[in-house]
Formats: sequence, structure tokens, C-alpha cells
Amino acid sequence: MSEPGLLYEAPELAASDPPRSFSAFALTPLPPVAQQGMKYLPWISFAVRCKACGGDDFRLGSRIEADPELSRQAPSNPTLLRPPHRLKCESCGAIETVFDPQTDGYDGVLSGGAGRQAVQGEERFTKAVCKIELGATYNIDLEELKSLAAAAGPPVKATDLFDWINIIATAPDGEPLEVDYECA
Ligand SMILES: [Zn+2]
Repeated sequence: MSEPGLLYEAPELAASDPPRSFSAFALTPLPPVAQQGMKYLPWISFAVRCKACGGDDFRLGSRIEADPELSRQAPSNPTLLRPPHRLKCESCGAIETVFDPQTDGYDGVLSGGAGRQAVQGEERFTKAVCKIELGATYNIDLEELKSLAAAAGPPVKATDLFDWINIIATAPDGEPLEVDYECA
């Protein structure tokens, strides 16, 4: 069920003026879905298409990080999918970055992803071809985001400063793969 006026101001603005870090892609804002117990939603979600060819079939690329703890728990899957994440268009082969914590979101824009170590692992793309949904969450009031953006100076804008991101990759015959990051 889509309802009008269901978004806080920052995600409402982002629906028509998405974060610059999403600008490599053609985006369609998805109608907000009412959540029980929430009068307004702090997030906006987008369906993602290739800007070059208009296709919407992608493989999600991640840096692969070996995790010793995970290796013990799940020997068949001893790796973690880490950012930066890129999307590879299945139709035309274009590859663009969808999220890099060192440049994107609240921390990335305002402090270069301070305190976050770059993952050096090999980049791997999903075997499955997926539809991609991108979500940006804003837990900070739009007025405050505007003053932070103004202090940072152009080209930074308020909607660049999302504090959570979700990337959901859904293959036709599989469980959706979701990666999400707190960016503040
Ligand atoms: Zn394409």
C-alpha cells in the first residue's frame, strides 16, 4: 500500500534529488510502503537501471574478505562481501560504483569515511543476474543536513548525507542478497 505524505522531509527530497553517489545510475523512486507503528519513514528506495543502455539486470560486485571466524562456522562460505560495491550491467557491460564508504554517505562525504579501512580483497561479481534496489536512510533532520551540506560547501547537498544504505540484489530464483551499511 502506497500512501502519500509517508516520508520524512529528507527522504522525500531524495526521491526527486537523489544522493550524488547514486548518479551513475538511472533511478526510479519506489512508492513508500506503510510500516506498522511508524507514522513517517526515514528512508527512500529506488529501482536501479543502467544509465548507458536502460537495462536493469546487474551483477553485484563486492570485495572478498576472508573471515577466520566465519571460516570456522561455515567452512563452505568463508568469505565476507565487503565494499566498495559496483554494479555490472548484464546488457552492455558498463560497470559503475554504487557505494564506497570512503566517499559516499554521511561519513564518506564529510570525513572521507574516517576510521574505515579500505578492503583490499579481490573483486567478485555475483554469479546470478539480479534486479537491484537501493535504499537511503536519513535519521537526521533535513534542516540539519542542509546546514551540514552548506558547511561542507558545493557540490555537497543535503541528500548526499544518508546515514544508512541498503543494496538489495534479487535474482529471479533465489533469496535476495542484501548488504547494508551504517554511514554515520
Ligand atoms: Zn547497460
